[in-house]
Amino acid sequence: MNVCNLCGSNDLKLLFVKSSVNLMKCRECGLVFIDPRPTLADLKKYYTENYYFATDSVTGGYDNYLADKENLLKTFTKRISFIENYIKPGKMLDVGCAFGFSLIAAKNRGWDVCGIELSDFASDIAKKQGFNIFSGTIEESPFQNGYFDCITMWDLLEHTIDPKKELLKTNQLMKNGGILTLSTPDVSSFLEKITGRHWLGYQSPKQHLFYFSPKSISHLLKNTGFEVTKIFHIGKFCSLSFIIQRLKYYNLTLAKPLDFTVKFLSLENFTIYVNPFDTLGVIAKKIK
Ligand SMILES: [Zn+2]
Repeated sequence: MNVCNLCGSNDLKLLFVKSSVNLMKCRECGLVFIDPRPTLADLKKYYTENYYFATDSVTGGYDNYLADKENLLKTFTKRISFIENYIKPGKMLDVGCAFGFSLIAAKNRGWDVCGIELSDFASDIAKKQGFNIFSGTIEESPFQNGYFDCITMWDLLEHTIDPKKELLKTNQLMKNGGILTLSTPDVSSFLEKITGRHWLGYQSPKQHLFYFSPKSISHLLKNTGFEVTKIFHIGKFCSLSFIIQRLKYYNLTLAKPLDFTVKFLSLENFTIYVNPFDTLGVIAKKIK
């Protein structure tokens, strides 16, 4: 029987169906998740080269993950410098590290870094940069319990098959008082409310398996041995062409004239920091 990953309740309601996937909401705790959920073998099939160099990134994956390196480095540098308000540089693990750009940003700021990446394609690229990367899941990883001062999960938890198990294992790998930082789409955001099933968070229902709100992520972190220190909306550096592509997806009349102007002025690669207030940033402390 299908039960909620967070509270175990079977009192679920169907929100809508998208790409043959049911979006379910737990009436008890508010967790949103897809049904049926893929297996680990299915996940491995998604995160191949095609995911990082997708022909239609709006419905899943990235246009060209490598070409976005500078923006990603700037984003991770900003995020990691923010974490340093809570913990000084020490041993860091990034779960779902993709090509390792987060590790470059952290290393440059004095962190001793390791990564975990499910995708063989992405982890091979990260390994080639000289990083200690485990290719697989956090469950199977060989890292010692109580080893890390800080674990980061950038846009990772929504992709996992069992977020509770993922966070319990994360907790084990951390030192007491260590800091966990994560980002994940906010299913209770204003943007979700006004765009409904067209919200970009729902763009790839076969890859985003769970959707959290400040309430449900706090509940999950509490149940897995963490105390939430801060919850906020987190942004990222994006090129103007990326922003226009997203505006076009929402079919905004604004997108076309903006597209014309940006192309006319050759500003496609101009970068700005964007916060659409639909992605949660969470800082949590291991307390047990
Ligand atoms: Zn629930």
